Amino acid sequence: MTDRVNSIQYFFNPIFLYGPPGSGKTSVGRELAKSLALPFVDLDQLIEEQTGKSIQEIFDEQGEDGFRKLEKKALQDVAKLDWGVIALGGGTLLTHENKQLVEQVGVIASLSASESVLVERLETGQVNRPLLVNDGEETPDTGKLRALLDQRAGHYASFKFQIGTDSKGPDELVLEIETTLGAFHVRGMAARAGNARGKVSGLARPVSTGYDIRISPALDSLGVALRMNGMSGPIVIVTDQNVAEGYLSRIERSLQAEDYPTRAVIIPPGEESKTMVIVSQLWEAFLDAGLERGSSVVALGGGVVGDLAGFAAATYMRGIPWVNVPTSLLAMVDASLGGKTGVDLPQGKNLVGAFHAPRMVLVDPSALETLPRDEQRSGMAEVIKAGLIGDPKLFNLSRNSLEVIKEDFEEIIRRAMAVKIQVIEADPFEEGLRAVLNLGHTVGHAVEKVSNYTIRHGEAVAIGMVAEARLSERIGLAERGLADEIADACKLIGLPVDIPENLPREDILEAMKVDKKREGAKVKFALPVKIGEVRPGVEVSDIEALLW
Ligand code: NAD
Ligand code: ZN
Repeated sequence: MTDRVNSIQYFFNPIFLYGPPGSGKTSVGRELAKSLALPFVDLDQLIEEQTGKSIQEIFDEQGEDGFRKLEKKALQDVAKLDWGVIALGGGTLLTHENKQLVEQVGVIASLSASESVLVERLETGQVNRPLLVNDGEETPDTGKLRALLDQRAGHYASFKFQIGTDSKGPDELVLEIETTLGAFHVRGMAARAGNARGKVSGLARPVSTGYDIRISPALDSLGVALRMNGMSGPIVIVTDQNVAEGYLSRIERSLQAEDYPTRAVIIPPGEESKTMVIVSQLWEAFLDAGLERGSSVVALGGGVVGDLAGFAAATYMRGIPWVNVPTSLLAMVDASLGGKTGVDLPQGKNLVGAFHAPRMVLVDPSALETLPRDEQRSGMAEVIKAGLIGDPKLFNLSRNSLEVIKEDFEEIIRRAMAVKIQVIEADPFEEGLRAVLNLGHTVGHAVEKVSNYTIRHGEAVAIGMVAEARLSERIGLAERGLADEIADACKLIGLPVDIPENLPREDILEAMKVDKKREGAKVKFALPVKIGEVRPGVEVSDIEALLW
């Protein structure tokens, strides 16, 4: 066994919500737990259950000291949980001992609100803390709250992850916490649920048909993550030659440390490998390694490896579990999300495939250190797309040179994944809303194809986003200047923004018309309205005249 405590820190470690009375720990915590399909514990409620007394009674009978002793004991119990969302009391982490314990076993999100909002919540009865009530009085004392906030301001500010809760709805807050911590759970697809249990009785993980996503230093802790999710061996790791060189032995070590028998299949890198020939080689390797219906496949690599390994897992014995460890930027922010797997045919890309969601997606941003610059650049086109679809701050972070952007890769990945996750959750089987993800791709795919794939996918998407934004401006949908703004961001990264002169416009139009997104004679576009908003399904009839 590896050092479990340290590994857990990066995975399914409990998430503690902390902050002053009235900051929303319990209500937000409950929603967060639901969203992540994790058990929820309210520490005060646990103390009440353990003692059979209300917090008020404990304060009356034993004073604050007595309460703190019981609180410490309850905290030690929840610290044993493998995972969960735990709402702490407003002063639980005031002692060094408690703080240290919580920091060791989990992550802490510190919720805050302005004093006026906290006072209002207190006055309207949304907060009931004995510490804030004067002797013999029922109503809480706002003066006491103000004094307590003053006294603890530095304490609450000392935690790394700060979440402001003023004027934000519960959904928005949950998404912000998930994005900040790099932890998501995608619902709505029929992957089998994790079956691991927490160590506090009665706190098994709720059954979910979704899958977990964690952005963390995952490469050395994969074995622990699989074990915690109750996944069985043997395990076949599918990877390509480039990725194997840097990461295969680390992945093998981490799986073997958890006693998983492993076998690796290393395929040649590149799109040329995305064929049925390679899929049948994978099936044979699965058979050879003794994979059965409960065994698992790990995909370690870019989108090609993920699509191939996922498809082989989807079809082998009518579907076995798989885990995706994407190592390219494009695979992290795009290909690893949504459950689509598949291969190319000589007649075209991605013509054969299946929806088969992985059991987990584990993203280790440090893998990008070895990703060639051109691949980083190409992946950034999808990041800019994500910013345009739903996150203006992400768009701003992307408005930089690659050198600067690299410093923020982790935040960029978390934010871009959050955007795509929201879209696929709303439309798991690509029935409508998912079309926003086609932004830049209607023109982009055509440019890619007409260039005979000499233009990289990301480059073509950059060209496509700018062309489609110009179109959107011309039909009066987008704000003026949007296309230039997108073009400037792409140029800073080193992505092209103009259709090369040598590509005939008629061929591009023709390619757009035969593209699978076409319906009837008209081409449907996903067009940007402004940064953070894209409209899907926009029919444009006179594209020849409007596109260039
Ligand atoms: P890729 O898998 O070919 O990876 C690009 C290159 O980077 C390869 O040479 C690879 O060996 C190398 N590489 C990857 N990670 C590395 C690392 N950490 N260090 C060094 N080298 C590394 O291509 P891609 O751009 O990752 O993905 C493109 C594929 O993804 C396409 O086949 C596309 O159809 C597919 N895709 C699928 C979906 C989906 O929803 N399933 C979505 C978008 C794209
Ligand atoms: Zn794309």
